[in-house]
Amino acid sequence: MSVIGLNILVIGGGIGGLAVARALALRGGSVTLLEQAEAIAEVGAGLQISPNGFAVLDALGLGQDLVRGSVRANAVSLRDYRRSEVLRLDLGRLENRNYYFTHRADLIEILAHGAREAGVRIRLLHKVDRVDPGDRPRVHTANGAVIEADVVIGADGLHSCLRPALNGDASPRFTGQVAWRTIIPNDANRPPEAWVHMGPGRHMVSYPLRGGSALNLVAVQERHAWVDEGWSHQDSPDTLRATFADFGPEVQKMLARVETVHLWGLFRHPVARHWQGGNSALLGDAAHPTLPFLAQGACMALEDAWALADELDNSEDTASGLAAYQARRAARASRVINAATGNAWKYHLRSAPVRFAAHTALKVGGALAPS
Ligand code: FAD
Repeated sequence: MSVIGLNILVIGGGIGGLAVARALALRGGSVTLLEQAEAIAEVGAGLQISPNGFAVLDALGLGQDLVRGSVRANAVSLRDYRRSEVLRLDLGRLENRNYYFTHRADLIEILAHGAREAGVRIRLLHKVDRVDPGDRPRVHTANGAVIEADVVIGADGLHSCLRPALNGDASPRFTGQVAWRTIIPNDANRPPEAWVHMGPGRHMVSYPLRGGSALNLVAVQERHAWVDEGWSHQDSPDTLRATFADFGPEVQKMLARVETVHLWGLFRHPVARHWQGGNSALLGDAAHPTLPFLAQGACMALEDAWALADELDNSEDTASGLAAYQARRAARASRVINAATGNAWKYHLRSAPVRFAAHTALKVGGALAPS
């Protein structure tokens, strides 16, 4: 079987949805993508694309578009929050140097353009309320439409509407950590390195974006208080500054430039047991949300997109193609997610030597630093 002429519905116009839409359309699928928002757009935040994610973008013909607007990473340096110890992981020693710092909005724009160019019909303001999976899956939208398709792909993120239809409800658990994110000007002309400042109970990651003109900051703190899950809660820059007040001058200089900041709670979700049911399948965060401590969520969604299109295009029938996709992806996704979860505690150890020792155990390569 091939996907030529197959009528495919993708729910969600994020990184995974747009990538799988292009991948399937390039193979001859007739693809419609439903996105709840009024525009394909993204919040201002940075993203690390490691060589595994880049390989998918390149195979989709979009690699050079990413290179043009991104910063190629030279190194990751781990810094103690007060002392001057630095442990530098030189990415120049990697065999594959395609490790980029990019802006989420830029990646989304590249993927959306790529999807449209391949013939994907993007329908905005189409929120899906419910999916009836099965041999002939049906999607119910909030504006009352019922749409049938040969295949439905749920790339609708953390709060997927397809996931409960295939797996029942799951309750995410608060990790006891919250994170702020913001973008500031890169006044000091920082080299293309990610810096991870690590202190007891807190850490901060920063790296340059957009030709080096901006710096992306993500700061994490351990907390008992519960914060809603979601990326767009605004917080006061002064709260962020106060939380990191005992960090050294490098951090203070960056925090002094923060004008607006968002705060979100970090939750642990189980990997979905069933990624596929009949002719429907889950992809990206909808199947396996991850904590941001390995910078792999988007890269995993890209890997999923490639594998799903490939398996569907080379299978006997649709359902077995989707089952083969889960079989190909589930173990790797679980391994990466467990590694990200395992990293969560390492940044916040109370003793500096132990913190550094723990970090020498971090993997360099396809899956590296926290975002
Ligand atoms: P999403 O990006 O969440 O997209 C889902 C889309 O579906 C959205 O457009 C949404 O509007 C739409 N949608 C949702 N529900 C519906 C519905 N009912 N009907 C219609 N449309 C719907 N990953 C990395 O690889 N590297 C990093 O450096 C990195 N840094 C990160 C930093 C932060 C601050 C965060 C929060 C995450 C980071 N990640 C990173 C993870 C990565 O961003 C996610 O894993 C990735 O965006 C998942 O893509 P997705 O397409 O599966 O879901």
